[in-house]
Parts: sequence; C-alpha cells; structure tokens
Amino acid sequence: MNKIAIFPGSFDPFTIGHYDIVMRGLDIFDKVVIGIGINCTKQESFPLHQRLNAIQQYFANEPRVQVHPYDCLTVDFAAQHKAQFILRGVRSAQDFEYERSMAEANKQLSGIETILLYTRPEYAHISSTLVRDLHSHGKDISVYLP
Ligand code: ADP
Repeated sequence: MNKIAIFPGSFDPFTIGHYDIVMRGLDIFDKVVIGIGINCTKQESFPLHQRLNAIQQYFANEPRVQVHPYDCLTVDFAAQHKAQFILRGVRSAQDFEYERSMAEANKQLSGIETILLYTRPEYAHISSTLVRDLHSHGKDISVYLP
C-alpha cells in the first residue's frame, strides 16, 4: 500500500520547523501532500501565490512532495489525494491539546489517522506568527526560512 499523508496548515510563512516535519514525514510516508488552507478565519500576511511558489521551490528536487492550496474540509482534501494520514507537528503542550482535538474530530469525520511528530528542540520556538511579526518590523527573517 502506498502510504500518503497530507500536511495541512496556513504556512504563513512556511518555516524551517515545517520543512523539518515534511522531511521527517518522508521517512514514514511514500508521499506527503502539503495543503495550504485558504478558508481559515486567520488574516493572511504573505499572499497565497507567494507561499505556494516558495514551498514548491523548497521541494523542487523532491518528487515525493506535492503542494496544493485547498478551501474545503481537511478530511475532504485528504480524500481527494487518497491520503490515509494527516501529518502534524507538535511544539508544546498547548499544541498537543489543539492537535488532539483536531485529530479526534477528523477521525470521527472520516476515520483518518493523524500522525504527530515532535519538533526538534532547536525549532520549538519557531512559529509563523513570530516570523510574521519580525517581518512586519522590517527584520531579516531568512534564518527561519528553509
Ligand atoms: P495551522 O494554522 O493549521 O496551525 P501552521 O502553518 O501554523 O498551521 O502549522 C502547521 C503545522 O505545523 C501544525 O501542526 C504546527 O503545530 C506545525 N508546526 C508549526 N511550527 C512548527 C515547528 N517550529 N516545529 C514543528 N512543527 C511546527
């Protein structure tokens, strides 16, 4: 069986923390489909096309990674891509509680399994929010990007 996972998120922007989760996901799954959720209530900072282009470039040499925007339910996006798994990352107890409730809801909706990977300790403080804040104050954010 081809093991396919989706990695859903806002990726506003996609950081080295996200990149690490995808690369480690490739050790577990045959294919990882990155889904940029565009129907969230969050106000976006980096335009969708910019996020999509950046992520495509990061994985240009990795044929087992695909990137697609989506505006439907995450479980429906997974079904469209024949994915049996949702891949997510966990940095803290707060992340864990959120991920647990999402995983339970998605499992109930479609039977899909969520696989959580712990962040590398050196990336635990990195969030898209932090990177957006620094960027809005004119700081160099390149160390946080893949
Ligand atoms: P969402 O808006 O759905 O939370 P994000 O783009 O913020 O999407 O994050 C997508 C996934 O990546 C989430 O599971 C999040 O916990 C995880 N993640 C974000 N930053 C890191 C990091 N530094 N290390 C590991 N996982 C991370």
